[in-house]
Amino acid sequence: MTRKKMFGTNGVRGVINETMTVDLVLKLGKAIGTTIGPGKIVVGRDARNGGEMFSKSVIAGLLSTGCSIVNIGYVPTPTLQYVVPRMDASGGVVITASHNPAEFNGIKVMGSNGIETSRETETKIESVFFSNNFTVSAWDNLASVTQDKTAIDQHIAGIKSHIDTKVIQKRHLVVVIDSANSVGGLVTPKLMRDLGCKVISLNSQLDGSFPGRSPEPTPENVIELRKTVKSVGADLGIAHDGDADRATFVDESGNIVSGDHSLSIIAKRILKKGSTLVTPISSGKLIEDTVEQAGAKIDWTVVGSVDVSHRVEEINAELGGEENGGVFYPPLQSVRDGPMTSALIVEIMSKEGKKLSELISELPTYYTEKQKLKIPAEKMSSMKEKLLVFTKDEERITIDGIKLFYDDGWILIRPSGTEPLYRIFAEGKTVDNAKKLAKIGVDLIERALS
Ligand code: MG
Repeated sequence: MTRKKMFGTNGVRGVINETMTVDLVLKLGKAIGTTIGPGKIVVGRDARNGGEMFSKSVIAGLLSTGCSIVNIGYVPTPTLQYVVPRMDASGGVVITASHNPAEFNGIKVMGSNGIETSRETETKIESVFFSNNFTVSAWDNLASVTQDKTAIDQHIAGIKSHIDTKVIQKRHLVVVIDSANSVGGLVTPKLMRDLGCKVISLNSQLDGSFPGRSPEPTPENVIELRKTVKSVGADLGIAHDGDADRATFVDESGNIVSGDHSLSIIAKRILKKGSTLVTPISSGKLIEDTVEQAGAKIDWTVVGSVDVSHRVEEINAELGGEENGGVFYPPLQSVRDGPMTSALIVEIMSKEGKKLSELISELPTYYTEKQKLKIPAEKMSSMKEKLLVFTKDEERITIDGIKLFYDDGWILIRPSGTEPLYRIFAEGKTVDNAKKLAKIGVDLIERALS
């Protein structure tokens, strides 16, 4: 039997009152308290439906193990992460399902440094959960719950202390912010106003039914933002996901900026000779080029923000980033932080007096091609061995799927975690080139199947 698992790439998630219930969350609270307690645990939530009952359940579970609670209410995940170490807490819990559709909710667990707990700690929490082996506090040793409303101000002050506020204040940028009716709207609009920007807010009321748009800031989901930026003549659009650990940008013409581009714009200015960028193997050629031009180096990780965060801390990297718009800025904190990322972008625009589209046009363009191939379930396990043999003479990384590097691009061949299929990502300097590279991946998989 395979080990029972609850944690996915970013915490535990499920459909509200179906796979994610108050009973499960109560028990999970006990397992978290047993594993990372005793001590103070900071609890927060995003604007999703179910947040009220799930925060109460997780708090009840944590209290039963003897933990004390600081309830900070509605906050973005990076805001909770920022205050955990500053409140001298043993850890933190945020009730969120990040960018998932509205019917989902979930839990992310942080350690005392504010970073999501390691895979090892997740496994411990899971084993306590399934073995029902909980710490139980004596009746006369139970701790209490306190409320704290300072987290958002602390986070905003922290961000401002790491950027040149004066240079931004002089630029008077017009910024449209689409907060997806969730907690990003509690931080980024205030932060931008403090920086002297004129802010126009979209979907800023907290509403767990997500009436404005789906919480994932994909190009299709932020059409209203793109139109608004253009029609009001704004300099920039910012869209957050449900818990605002990510920021997606829109330039002054209403064009979406890919995560590879926003990360490269930031990386180009932060990385120096000898610096290191930590990024998952799914990141593209543009990031590789940017790092190379800076005389810096890449430290590749498996796909997942938790792994990036831990690696950034472990090797003291100057920056971390993902192609989905997640930027990890270690001088503030080694986690994905949407408001911090937004501040870095407006700082660069202000310092250099450039439009966002100009910053993008300075970067080379690459083209991507994605394919997926269904594999008979019984053949999934033998695929990787064969692919490893076929590619043994290539320049490659095999920590998570197989990434092959070529002079003009790369391919990533990766099994799906949930379905019997392999995904192929290719990137090249032209559309044809990307297609040719993807074909190499398809051929390899077909060869392994035959
Ligand atoms: Mg998120």
